[in-house]
Amino acid sequence: MLNTSLSSNSIPKYFFNKLVDITPEDIFSMGAKAVGIDLDNTSFYDSTYKPFPGVYEWLSSMKKAGIPVIIVSNTYEFRANRISKKLGGLPYIGNANKPDTKCFFEAAKQCGVDVSEFAMVGDQLFTDIQGANNAGAISVRVKYMTREILMGIRFRLVRRRERLYLEDKGLGDKV
Ligand SMILES: [Mg+2]
Repeated sequence: MLNTSLSSNSIPKYFFNKLVDITPEDIFSMGAKAVGIDLDNTSFYDSTYKPFPGVYEWLSSMKKAGIPVIIVSNTYEFRANRISKKLGGLPYIGNANKPDTKCFFEAAKQCGVDVSEFAMVGDQLFTDIQGANNAGAISVRVKYMTREILMGIRFRLVRRRERLYLEDKGLGDKV
């Protein structure tokens, strides 16, 4: 069950429009040495095996800069594994159970960095961002790319809560 409780810990440390807009220099300037990426609506179209444009190039730019990248997704193991293979054997944690913090510590460990040096990039405040903040990781929010009309009613309600939450914090322009 998705945790949608409002906590002050759901405010992202950094905001970007898209995953592929984040450069290695951005990662270093955040004080991060490794990156976790969410799948649905962050790097892949929702519930598909189709990456967003530029994801392969983005991964190779990170690799070139020596920044380890790991998938941290709540999707089921089979899909996470297939996507990992599709991305050239990218490390992954499936069934991550975000916002539970365990997966962020595990991901940072797999990358060989402290959790405080681990940037988690995701689109959802109440899973990616809240979990990363609670773990002491660096939370980075990207705008979701799927058109909301394609999403289920429950998901739209979560989006609405996110929007209201950010507006309430004076961050309405970041939605
Ligand atoms: Mg997502």
